[in-house]
Amino acid sequence: MAKSRFEYVREFETHDVLLPQTYIVVRIDGKKFHEFSKHYNFDKPNDIRALKLMNACAKNIILKYRNDLILAYGESDEYSFILKSDTTLFNRRRDKISSLFVSIFTSNYVALWPKFFSDLPLDIKHLPCFDSRCVVHPNLQSVKDYLSWRYVDTHINNLYNTTFWKLIQNCGMTPQESENRLSGTLSSDKQEILFKDCGINYNNEPEMFKKGSLITNKGEILHIDVIKSLDKIFEGF
Ligand code: ATP
Ligand code: ATP
Ligand code: MG
Ligand code: MG
Ligand code: MG
Ligand code: MG
Repeated sequence: MAKSRFEYVREFETHDVLLPQTYIVVRIDGKKFHEFSKHYNFDKPNDIRALKLMNACAKNIILKYRNDLILAYGESDEYSFILKSDTTLFNRRRDKISSLFVSIFTSNYVALWPKFFSDLPLDIKHLPCFDSRCVVHPNLQSVKDYLSWRYVDTHINNLYNTTFWKLIQNCGMTPQESENRLSGTLSSDKQEILFKDCGINYNNEPEMFKKGSLITNKGEILHIDVIKSLDKIFEGF
């Protein structure tokens, strides 16, 4: 192709290549999903349709790049994709990996929306969007710690959200009263409030809410105790 005198500006483009032999984690997160979930009247604290839609989008990414991925893990409006340390996907260019993962995820979210929210079309003024980042991890231990961090986060958030919403839905508290009631409480206190005030045994809540969703590189969706299963999950990686 002919070169123009303008082409020198291409030299201004830099490509951040992620360090070889390191694990790459791509995490995407919904932009302002607190508002988004309000607009589309998500069930609180957990809308099953929305969680299943997130899982379906992540599963399609796994199936598309299964040779490069170890697993995906998601909760709420976020998903993490853990890539193999020897992947050469997009020549390990940070921009390409980050932007293509989030754009494939978002286009899937929009395309699959009607399958999960059949009676509720997307509104052009309230379209879903996600941010994305790539983080490299130098060894398998830090990858395991990363996954454990997200897993513990799922538990902490879900226990809080479940108690917060049940106090409103079952006990007639206002959001402010519920927040005040939970201020300074430990996990065990929240489980007790749920049981004594709301008649709910946290252990009986759905596994997907309590544990998040882990998708293997075969596309299997699991709701398991991630910390107890780390060795098995990363066997061979
Ligand atoms: P930011 O743009 O900074 O990420 P955010 O509003 O998306 O802001 P998050 O910390 O990502 O904040 O939290 C996501 C919020 O989206 C949750 O707090 C919850 O209100 C809502 N949400 C996401 N998924 C669901 C779901 N499946 N059911 C009900 N609510 C959900
Ligand atoms: P890459 O993933 O590397 O960007 P690509 O196939 O998208 O690969 P580009 O150099 O971006 O390659 O070129 C985009 C190609 O898409 C064009 O060469 C053309 O074949 C096709 N294309 C894009 N827009 C149109 C259009 N409006 N009408 C017809 N063809 C189009
Ligand atoms: Mg965020
Ligand atoms: Mg968000
Ligand atoms: Mg989030
Ligand atoms: Mg192109």
